[in-house]
Amino acid sequence: MDRTTGFLNEDLERKSWEEQRALQAVRLGEVVAHAAAHAPAIGALLRSAGVVPADIRSLEDLARLPVTPKARLVELQRENPPFGGLLAVPLHQVRRIFRSPGPIYDPQGFDEGWGWEEALFAAGFRRGDVCINTFGYQMTPAGMMFDDALGALGCPLVPTGVGDKEVQIEILRALGVTGFVGMASFLLQIGERAKEQGLDPAKDFGLRAAFTTAEPLSDTLRASVEGLFGATVRQGFGTADCGCLAYECHAQEGMHLASRAIVEIADPETGRPLGPGEVGEIVVTLFNRAYPLLRFGTGDLSAVDPGDCACGRRSPKLRGWLGRCDQLVKVKGMFLHPGSIQMAMRGFPEVTRYRALVTRSGSRDVLTVRAEATAQDDGLKARIEERLRAVLQVGAAVEWAAGETLPADGKVIEDLRKWD
Ligand SMILES: [Zn+2]
Repeated sequence: MDRTTGFLNEDLERKSWEEQRALQAVRLGEVVAHAAAHAPAIGALLRSAGVVPADIRSLEDLARLPVTPKARLVELQRENPPFGGLLAVPLHQVRRIFRSPGPIYDPQGFDEGWGWEEALFAAGFRRGDVCINTFGYQMTPAGMMFDDALGALGCPLVPTGVGDKEVQIEILRALGVTGFVGMASFLLQIGERAKEQGLDPAKDFGLRAAFTTAEPLSDTLRASVEGLFGATVRQGFGTADCGCLAYECHAQEGMHLASRAIVEIADPETGRPLGPGEVGEIVVTLFNRAYPLLRFGTGDLSAVDPGDCACGRRSPKLRGWLGRCDQLVKVKGMFLHPGSIQMAMRGFPEVTRYRALVTRSGSRDVLTVRAEATAQDDGLKARIEERLRAVLQVGAAVEWAAGETLPADGKVIEDLRKWD
């Protein structure tokens, strides 16, 4: 079975990104007009921004609206329960209502999915795959999201949730399960338990494709699970409020943006959209009629990298999860996050420990990465500096921490600037 090529929706996924965005602009105009007319909170949002629905005609026009963080949605719902004036359809058109910590209540309309089908197909799931869905089915949408998506793909599934590992092992064997949906760390635990029972997960199970989200997937974790089960592991990015936003293809170099939502990378302070490669907050606009979200601030950081992909999909790629906005440090006018430093340093196994220091010289920010390495030479230093500049988009000097030991407290960035 070919699990590495093809498309779920070839016509759409192979359209140029410009064409996909043009289609999004049409849907944006429709959803803004509908939301402004039926959701009082959206009407108020537009008025406070001084715009009328007809002003939002292109994706660029979206920047005229402010970013709405999740905390603001919680506040709106508290002031005006239960949905904060954001519900844009009558209640009989609501299928489910989810509750997430906050608390926040997310209504889901009929025929409004979460869009994970495309992601699962790209991850190698095919019609007829028997799957286990280990995401929880209660209160929050994770379990239902993948239940709907697997159903739409024609994959029968066992709604296991995060159940007992022994039972998961029994199901994997009894049904010849080929697909896993859930957290990669949980799949690893299942595999390790199976080994304790004297089983070889690669031989005794028939697992082929695993899809994971909701936690950062490290190269080590991916390699361990793939090695243990002889299956491919692919990840996606999404949130409980928004559903699927991006997903990996077989080429595994970042996550293609899904065309079902408008994903912007915005300056976390001003909400201004940022350019390709710049790190900022993931801001999402959905086309849902029941519960329209316009420029919803996820609080998560990433960047979008354009460029062609070997798989044939034309959408640019999200660089992966780079952390939360509240961990940001601004250096030389650019936002810097521990995740980007870690990403830059990942390719240097010689480096055993490092820490980025932000200091000030006159009115200038200075970024220095102090590092310990097994071979501390100038060639390596130059290669790290080059990589740091490419990933962070600000210059950083590397200094060897000669004869001293950097503290092992897990801190990646230390801001030593004094502000008075
Ligand atoms: Zn691709």
